[in-house]
Amino acid sequence: MGALVSLPLLSYLALPALSSWSTSLNILFFYVTWSTLLWTYHAFSITFLLLLSVRLLVSFIPSLLLLLLDAAVPSLAAGLKAAGPKALATRQMAPAQLARMAGLVLFNTLFGITLLSIAADPGVLSRCIIDPVRAELLYLGVLKPSLKARYGGLALAPTPPLFRPLVRVSAALPSPYNLLLEVARGAALRHVLQYAVHRRVLHDAGWSRWAAALARRHARWAHPAELSHAFALASAADHPLCHALHRWLPLLLPAALARAHVLALALNVALAAAEETAAWCGFRYVPGFVLPGVGVAQRRVEAHVESRGGCCFGTWGVLDWACGTGPSVVEDVVGGRGGAEGEGDDGGAVAAAGKKGRRAEGRRSAGEEGNGGWKGMVEGTVEDGMDKTGRKKGRGKTKAK
Ligand SMILES: [Zn+2]
Repeated sequence: MGALVSLPLLSYLALPALSSWSTSLNILFFYVTWSTLLWTYHAFSITFLLLLSVRLLVSFIPSLLLLLLDAAVPSLAAGLKAAGPKALATRQMAPAQLARMAGLVLFNTLFGITLLSIAADPGVLSRCIIDPVRAELLYLGVLKPSLKARYGGLALAPTPPLFRPLVRVSAALPSPYNLLLEVARGAALRHVLQYAVHRRVLHDAGWSRWAAALARRHARWAHPAELSHAFALASAADHPLCHALHRWLPLLLPAALARAHVLALALNVALAAAEETAAWCGFRYVPGFVLPGVGVAQRRVEAHVESRGGCCFGTWGVLDWACGTGPSVVEDVVGGRGGAEGEGDDGGAVAAAGKKGRRAEGRRSAGEEGNGGWKGMVEGTVEDGMDKTGRKKGRGKTKAK
């Protein structure tokens, strides 16, 4: 892992702008290190360690440190939070729940990275599972000799990979321009896919039995009753299947479509992890140069959490505005005063949407009816998300109003 972390990737990206001897040496060192890694390890190991390093450094460890800050110095942490003391993780959940959440997040991280690493090196399935099992079956005499013909008559000939690698793990590095292009394309497609999965699968139980099952799990695991405000660790706390569909599949699909280089995939994983951590940390002040528009993303995450999945399914709000599941960014910025940079926790169009979704949930439980418009649709989606039976009645009823 140390060798992977020490790769001077930034020097490689800065190649067009810098032409000094030190930069050239860094590039050479990077290339030699990368080629050595490729000669020494399987593509699976390289991808796994690269993505794990990125995810641990950018998301998991910072989330744990922020949780530690909440627990150790609550007065300081509460002052930094946009929603004040009630947004502290330790105020929302018991220590045992937070420990379980940390374990779940770590499992989700390892599960997703394993999926991506298998996509980069499908031969690992043959090497680690199929071939040992086949050799054991041959040894025990369970596998008939006629089946040996499938493997060229050789009992221990390696099984070919089940599919070709979806991601390039090669010594031929893309140019910095192509690398950035792959990252930008991957990030754009990732946001579209994440919005579609989050809205149409994880919060829309009506159209399929499978979607209903996933929506119930997402509601129970990612939107528990105790979670009233976002905090960094909760960004990856979800049912493993829901999390893989929502967070990892949108990273893999664009890379597989373009058969991107693993470095582009790693940069996209880093970007996604930074976005999630910054958008979910709930801090009042996050420097804009870290991620532009992070305050807008924070308000949207807060509204989604507060409404328990009633609105704001995307990070930046563009798709929410286009599809009518949230106010526009301009409406939020111009009309909003709350959120990350605001004075309180309840201001802004997006925050109002979150509060309205929460109130609607209360009204529904009391047998009252919701409103029309996009807010009405939002309320219908809340009902879908919380629908324990997973039937279509909630959405249909709300839309018909
Ligand atoms: Zn959700």
